Amino acid sequence: MFKKYFIILGPPGSGKGTQAKNISQEYELVYFGTGDLMREESKKGSEVGLKFKKIWDEGRGALIPENLVQEFVNEKLFLLNLSSGVIFDGYPRTTVQAEHLDNMLKSKNISDYKVLNLVVSDEFLINRMSTRRICATCGKIFENPIMRKINQCDNCQATLVQRSEDKPEILKRRISVYNEETAPLIDYYERKNKLINIDGEPSIDDVWKKIQDIVND
Ligand code: AMP
Repeated sequence: MFKKYFIILGPPGSGKGTQAKNISQEYELVYFGTGDLMREESKKGSEVGLKFKKIWDEGRGALIPENLVQEFVNEKLFLLNLSSGVIFDGYPRTTVQAEHLDNMLKSKNISDYKVLNLVVSDEFLINRMSTRRICATCGKIFENPIMRKINQCDNCQATLVQRSEDKPEILKRRISVYNEETAPLIDYYERKNKLINIDGEPSIDDVWKKIQDIVND
């Protein structure tokens, strides 16, 4: 029987969002992704959503300040149905958030969770992300389309564009924010004996196979 609670860690561009969604679908776990939840809130144009947008528009790859995250996430966690299992993606992102999540899980008698850590070097990330393009209409992601001589989306024939957060100067900032704020979580979970390191550099399909072996174990 596979475990029901997972946290996925990995730097921007490690493919953690894709793998988290694979896990959610394959094992019927609720996907709890704070990046998606915050983008949704920002699209709604609510007061807090506009604060998120302002931070993103500054383009420094910064995290949302802790006070805003806690209030927003508490509300979402409260609504979360934990009973069928959850994959957490993008939360926690700091040790403060990890302690908060631990307390919440403990209060629900959940201590049996694992942390999947996708390990990818900075050089690999910069190369992967700076060659990645996205369909301007449907959002489909294309790995290195220029080398593969692809210049439009095979779904909707729209133009492929580079996401502003994938531009090298912004990406470097996002990676350094990750190294400063989120990488300490690796030690945090290692000490709790929760951490499973996974090489994130092979293809998305190969990493997915490895993750399935771990989850099925
Ligand atoms: P993601 O889609 O997970 O890469 O998140 C996109 C952006 O949302 C991040 O660069 C942060 O600004 C913000 N964000 C998402 N989750 C968190 C979090 N747990 N704490 C702080 N900021 C977050």
